[in-house]
Amino acid sequence: MIAEIIAVGTELLLGATANTDAQYISRELAAMGIFVYHHAVVGDNEQRLAGAVELAKTRADIIITTGGLGPTYDDMTKGAVAACFGLRLEPHRPSLDRIREYFSKLGRVCTPNNEQQAWLPEGCVVFDNSCGTAPGCAFESGGKHVIMLPGPPKELTAMLKTGALPYLAGLSDDVLVSRFVRFFGIGESAIENELREMMESAVNPTVAPYATDGEAYLRVTARAGTRDEAFEMTRPVVDKLLSMFPQFIYGVDVDSLESAVSGRLRERGKTLALAESCTGGLIAKRLTDIEGASGIIWGGVVVYTNSAKTELLGVPEALLRDHGAVSGPAAAAMAEGILARSGADYGLSVTGWCGGGQVPCRAMTEFQTSAGDAYIALAVKGGETSVKKVFVGHGRERGRTLAAGHALKLLLDELKSKNYA
Ligand code: ATP
Repeated sequence: MIAEIIAVGTELLLGATANTDAQYISRELAAMGIFVYHHAVVGDNEQRLAGAVELAKTRADIIITTGGLGPTYDDMTKGAVAACFGLRLEPHRPSLDRIREYFSKLGRVCTPNNEQQAWLPEGCVVFDNSCGTAPGCAFESGGKHVIMLPGPPKELTAMLKTGALPYLAGLSDDVLVSRFVRFFGIGESAIENELREMMESAVNPTVAPYATDGEAYLRVTARAGTRDEAFEMTRPVVDKLLSMFPQFIYGVDVDSLESAVSGRLRERGKTLALAESCTGGLIAKRLTDIEGASGIIWGGVVVYTNSAKTELLGVPEALLRDHGAVSGPAAAAMAEGILARSGADYGLSVTGWCGGGQVPCRAMTEFQTSAGDAYIALAVKGGETSVKKVFVGHGRERGRTLAAGHALKLLLDELKSKNYA
């Protein structure tokens, strides 16, 4: 099937808002094996929207609109699109009740323009809006499937997931299975470079790359008659990826680096203590975002200054003087310091210089550490301490994210390498 996405909103044409909805929808459709040949953007103008829909009818099987479902005078998507298919709008009782109840809970009057949001094309499938008031909908007319979704990305992504994608999946008897292959330490473009041919030629399963905060992942999606069959079809592709990028893939079908680490720690019955400098507690935050963290995370300290490193972790002043606070020996002493004080199984530390753009201070330049360098150390109870130098780039936020990622990856590699009984 071929789909066309029509984004409605003058703010998109003025450059005030980037059309991220279309990007998101396109990626989801690609994973389902639905081709998107055209994106269109029109302002809040009934005539031009009707023109875009008429054109889309001539070249697509599925027409998806975003935006213009709200209560204001410029929100006219439903009326304009329904008219293109000769359909009337009629009130959808459950949506109307939900909108009225919402306003009554707020203690506000539900004005007619708010009620207008519950008027939908006759006979359509209604998608509830879990994050806002305007429902979305889908209908079939003259062999074309039309889906209307709200503009705000939060509302759109939720409705796409719970309403539109299941609707589209229901158009075929096949079942879709998606596997997620997660990478750390390699960029999306480098992955794409290695896999271009495979991604371009893959039809079933499809392989699509994604990038998030300092990480990348591939989604492998197969379509088949049954779930098991589809899963089996993904297996050779996932195995091939694992053999191509063994040092970069940290997990398949896991949510994140921190959830992979948490899972391994729990599986092994091990605990972790943290000593963080440049990450400012980010590693602890990421790990404690996951439920049940108290079973595996002893706790941690943020030791930003030299005196905090010395007073809280016992890092010798002389060591800091001789090697610098951003150095392998300092990272090792921090990890060993927190391990000794906590009694945990692992002590993980990070010290780095994410001070992009600042004038380097003498203490740093003297020790051949430049902006963007970080050291990570892992001290193992009854074992050795390993230290790794990584480059986390410029800019505090990105530097922190990458340093935290490298630290989690170092621990994960250690947990994977040991053959625990
Ligand atoms: P609302 O109930 O908020 O009016 P709506 O469905 O009518 O929802 P619009 O009024 O068209 O949506 O857009 C609301 C906001 O959603 C816009 O100001 C913009 O910030 C965001 N938005 C709209 N369309 C897009 C898009 N294609 N990509 C990203 N953001 C968008």
